[in-house]
This record gives sequence, C-alpha cells and structure tokens, in this order.
Amino acid sequence: MIIIDGSEGEGGGQVLRYACALALLTDTPFTIENIRGGREKPGLMRQHVTAIEAACVIGGAECSGLAVGSNSISFRPGRVTPGDYHFAVGTAGSTGLVLQTILVPLMTADAPSRLVIEGGTHAMAAPPFDFIERTLLPVINRMGPTVSARLVRHGFFPRGGGRIEVDIVPAPLRPVECIERGARRGVSVTAIVAGIPVDVAERELRTARKTLPEWPEGAFVTRQVPAEQGPGNALLVEAEFEHVTEIISGFGKLGLPAERLAQTAAKRMAGYLASDAFAGPYLQDQMLLPMAFARGGAFTTVKPSEHMRTAASLIERFTGTRFRVSDRDDGRHLVEVIA
Ligand code: ATP
Repeated sequence: MIIIDGSEGEGGGQVLRYACALALLTDTPFTIENIRGGREKPGLMRQHVTAIEAACVIGGAECSGLAVGSNSISFRPGRVTPGDYHFAVGTAGSTGLVLQTILVPLMTADAPSRLVIEGGTHAMAAPPFDFIERTLLPVINRMGPTVSARLVRHGFFPRGGGRIEVDIVPAPLRPVECIERGARRGVSVTAIVAGIPVDVAERELRTARKTLPEWPEGAFVTRQVPAEQGPGNALLVEAEFEHVTEIISGFGKLGLPAERLAQTAAKRMAGYLASDAFAGPYLQDQMLLPMAFARGGAFTTVKPSEHMRTAASLIERFTGTRFRVSDRDDGRHLVEVIA
C-alpha cells in the first residue's frame, strides 16, 4: 500500500488521476490524504470523483471515501477490462482529464475500447479537446497504440454538456525519441464562440495578430458553434510542425477581457516558438506516464513544470522508473527515462 500526501509537489487533482492510473497499471493499492491540499478549496471536486469512478469501472477497483469534498481515499485496483464505456462528469469538469486517468491502462489492455465522455471540452486548467486530438494523441500513437478522438459537442464552463468519443486500439508501448520538432507546416489562431457576440472573437484575433505579426492573415479565423452549446469562448493558438503540434489555449470567462486572454495565449506561443523544444508547458507532464511504461525514450521541453516534477516522483514511487531532467546548452531541457 502506497501512502500519498496529496499536498506535496503540485498538490492538485493531477496527483489523484495519475495515482489511479498507476495503481491500475502496477496492481498496487494506494491511500491518498490531504487531497488537493495545495489548492484554495481542498478535497475532491465533481470532476475528480468522476475520474476516479471511471478508474474503478474500467479497473474493477474498489475505492473508499469517494465523495465530493472528501480529503482522503483508499483505492484498491482490480483487473482492467477493455470495453465500451460512458462517463458523464455532470458539470463542466474536464472530459480530457477523465480520459487522462484511464487512457494508459486501456491502451495497454488486451482488447480495444470505445469511450464516450461528457462534461467540459474547452474549460480552464485542463487540456481542450483540440490539444488531446492534435498534440497528445499523435505522440501516443507513435508509441504503438492507435487512439483517435472525436468532438461531438462542445462543453464550456459553467454549463458543460460537451461530448467526446475515443477509440482505443492497444499495443505494446515502444520508446520514442521526441527531440526535434521538424519543419514548420502551418499555424492558426481559432477563436471559438458559442452563444456570445462574434465581436469577442474578433477582438481576440486582432490582439493575437499584434503578438504574432508574421503569421499570415488567413491563419486567424473565427469559429461560431451553435449557441445551444454555449455560452462559451475559447482561443486556440496552434503551430504544426513535422513531428509535433503545439496548441496554446485561453478560455473566456466573465471579467476577463478578450484582449488579455488573447495576449497571454499568443505570448505563450511566441515563447514556445523561440525555445525550439518539442514539448510545450502542458505536454511534458502528460508524456511521462506512457513513456514510463514504454520503459525508455526522451523528449526536449520548455522549462520543466511543477506538474511534470510531481508526475515523475509519483511514477517513481509506483514503478521504480526514474526520469533524468537536464539542461542543454541550447536552452532546451531534456527529459529521459532511466529505467
Ligand atoms: P486542481 O483543481 O486541483 O488544479 P485539476 O484536476 O483541475 O486540479 P491539475 O492538477 O492542475 O488539475 O492538472 C491539470 C492537467 O491538465 C495537467 O495534466 C496539465 O498538463 C493539463 N492542462 C492544464 N491546462 C492545460 C492546457 N491549457 N492545455 C493542455 N493541457 C492542460
């Protein structure tokens, strides 16, 4: 039984999700205390409960203490059973983060799975659908499995109601070297609006253009999705390279000026472009789990995040697999699995 202090490291929901995945992958029970102890409102939120429930369902696991607000759970894994599953967060809690909990166990299972997940698809502090589809899954697929995702309906904060579908064909994971991005193939900035004035999108695009002046005019597009999927607004700043696609996102919320949102996202993209690294600030932590079970591989990244360091130490506790993070002369950081 592994005992985890949920306030350590990054101290948020990611610790829980990766712990459930690791428990299923290694058949190791764990107890976590001080859940989300690093957050203003600690304890489980609805989206974390759904993610853990999903892990219980696909993994025949038993979990005590599982309720909104709970500060401690004990999780005892069973056998991972691939199949057709449907999970609904019930709020705008992230569909992508439910997927993050169960993806690696299902993609190393002995048969395919099909998932329907309902909740938020474009909400704060979580990977938007586009990031999952075009940033994360291509890297996963290079490791062997075939995972594809479809966005059926957008879900924004606070209403949620989005829907994604994911098909997973497992395969043994093989190590990949993700060092260079390769040549740039295309760029785009997409302002999505649902049920809010299109003027918001136009202001975001105008602001993003000022920060990314060399990007072609045609790269800046507004996408209106049916009002019944809103209200909501998301900005996706995307750069596609030969070997990786980076998507930096911003999500509209009351009180946050469209200009500020767009400037932050565009500046982050400018920073990523200047770095020459393969992984941006969010892909890095999401690559560690599959890489640990591929038992090898390496990637370059922008500055290592606290999320990545926390994921690395959790993986080491469950598997003994370690990561070396080193600074390179070219300013990039190299992350290697040292089994
Ligand atoms: P908490 O409310 O405790 O912060 P949480 O469950 O919402 O918890 P975190 O622990 O912060 O989440 O983990 C968020 C996860 O989502 C991380 O894996 C991070 O890489 C990913 N993520 C967050 N924002 C983005 C983004 N804009 N694009 C891609 N991935 C993101």
